[in-house]
Amino acid sequence: MKTEAAIVGAGPTGLLAAETISKKGYNVAVFEEHKRVGYPVHCAGMISVEGFKRLGVEPDPLFHQNTVYGGRVYSNDGSCLTIKDNKPRAYIIDRGSFDKHLADRAVDAGVDICLGSRVEEIVLKQGVASSLKIDSSDVKSEVFIDAEGAKGRLLARSGIDTGQQGVYNGFNTELCVDSIEADMVEVWFDTEIAKDFFVWVIPISENRVRCGLGTSESNGATKLKKFVKKRFNKDSNTIHSGLICTGGPVNQTVYPGLMLVGDVAGQVKPTTAGGVVIGGLCGKIAGETTVKALESGNVQLLDEYDSAWRAKYGSELQTMLFLRSILNRMDNDRMNRIFSAFIEEGLEDKFTRLVEDGDMDMQADVIKRAVSDPVILGALAKSAGRIALSEILSVFRF
Ligand SMILES: Cc1cc2nc3c(=O)[nH]c(=O)nc-3n(C[C@H](O)[C@H](O)[C@H](O)COP(=O)(O)OP(=O)(O)OC[C@H]3O[C@@H](n4cnc5c(N)ncnc54)[C@H](O)[C@@H]3O)c2cc1C
Repeated sequence: MKTEAAIVGAGPTGLLAAETISKKGYNVAVFEEHKRVGYPVHCAGMISVEGFKRLGVEPDPLFHQNTVYGGRVYSNDGSCLTIKDNKPRAYIIDRGSFDKHLADRAVDAGVDICLGSRVEEIVLKQGVASSLKIDSSDVKSEVFIDAEGAKGRLLARSGIDTGQQGVYNGFNTELCVDSIEADMVEVWFDTEIAKDFFVWVIPISENRVRCGLGTSESNGATKLKKFVKKRFNKDSNTIHSGLICTGGPVNQTVYPGLMLVGDVAGQVKPTTAGGVVIGGLCGKIAGETTVKALESGNVQLLDEYDSAWRAKYGSELQTMLFLRSILNRMDNDRMNRIFSAFIEEGLEDKFTRLVEDGDMDMQADVIKRAVSDPVILGALAKSAGRIALSEILSVFRF
């Protein structure tokens, strides 16, 4: 088989790259190891309203399940900060149906999606990507895009080590509950349950939630069961697991003839591990770069991909990574003290205003405004201590 662009993985980032290339009339084949696009689902399915606009996707009833306006953020002693906007902030979606929708769009644009096709190796000849090995056949192409997701197993098998850091286990379950605020998410910071990340409760309706956590420890499913029991007095249903990326972008996202897109490239918000929007936008950039290279007949132009996506999202991801590194240094005691100080100082309104003006995907501006606000800094100094505060400020001196 021969094509002009060959893409590994029919996740959102691979599909958006494929659609972008095919719309310009080039032959694109996407190879997906599963027999059905979008399944199995492990994602919590929360995507910002702005993110949908940026990706050029309408919240279709086929996958849109709910709309949320804000959240309640808890520390482990139950202290709570409530941040609620008066406009919709995020859509809750069924990820399987969402990916299927993107696949239908790609197919309408002319993309050939080959299901049940596991790529075993990206064959490099003298360092240049030259074909994909699938079963016993070879797929040749001008350009290759690896959008295989967080595991990066294919790259490793192909002899490429990206050195990606901060890839942890994520767990998710869905359950019926007696009643929950349908327009508010919950986030719980508790290092005993979700070390180096957090627990989420996402309402699908007033009586159904998606609950999950990320953790750098190995016993996340047990911890999630414990949390569900404590929070809802229920036993967990089936728990799905996947990998979350919190370590920021990998150092190199282009190799001769090959671009890395999405989770495998670390194009994921380190604060929340949300990778659909920024990964999807980078997928589009990979698609545009491919079109440029094919139009000019110069595959070396693929090199521009790395600087193109970093120019748009590199510093955003870097700032979020700094915040992630600070959060990872907080134990429960320190977090409880910070929450109490924020509540005592009446900072909920200030945080609400910051969030109202802020962007859920491009978080750098709101993070920088928060850590340069004298009232917030005062509360941090009081609760986290001067040493912790100078640590925080040193991280933001860039
Ligand atoms: C528990 C959990 C909750 C999450 N919640 C959210 C959230 O609420 N919002 C958000 O934005 N993000 C969330 N994420 C992250 C989000 O799922 C990813 O960032 C996103 O799916 C990345 O898209 P991708 O296209 O790079 O990879 P993926 O969506 O993982 O797609 C990769 C595809 O490649 C296929 N593949 C892999 N290897 C091969 C191979 N060798 N041959 C052929 N096919 C292959 C896989 O089967 C898969 O279909 C969550 C992740 C987890 C684990």
